[in-house]
Amino acid sequence: MGEVSAQPDRAARLLLILERDGSTCIWCGRPFAGQVRPTTEHVVPRVKGGPSWLENEVAACGRCNGERGHRSPVEWLEECQRRGWPVDVDRLGRVLTALSAAIARLGGQRRARPYLDAQVRRLLRRGATLPGVPA
Ligand SMILES: [Zn+2]
Repeated sequence: MGEVSAQPDRAARLLLILERDGSTCIWCGRPFAGQVRPTTEHVVPRVKGGPSWLENEVAACGRCNGERGHRSPVEWLEECQRRGWPVDVDRLGRVLTALSAAIARLGGQRRARPYLDAQVRRLLRRGATLPGVPA
């Protein structure tokens, strides 16, 4: 038998994410229904070393997920705000904070750490309040 993974599979993770965050796209705020389908999106992209953990995943509609491309989460958040979309800043703050805590607990993720720290600083500079992080 292979190694036991601490993470549920992808489909199960998506359901857990929807339970955790609600059934709307983090970026454009549209509720998931009909043609607006939820996809799993990595906050810290995999190419930047982001892990496939619940703490690094949010639900986004396929349009936003595709359009964000390789932009960082805060860069894309700013673009969504320019478009006047009701982007969920608090949700992004919670996920970034939870990911920092998970990395501190589990260790590793050397590539993701500096990227994540920079994103947290950039979000704080925008005046966001993050749970457990001094402003
Ligand atoms: Zn969307």
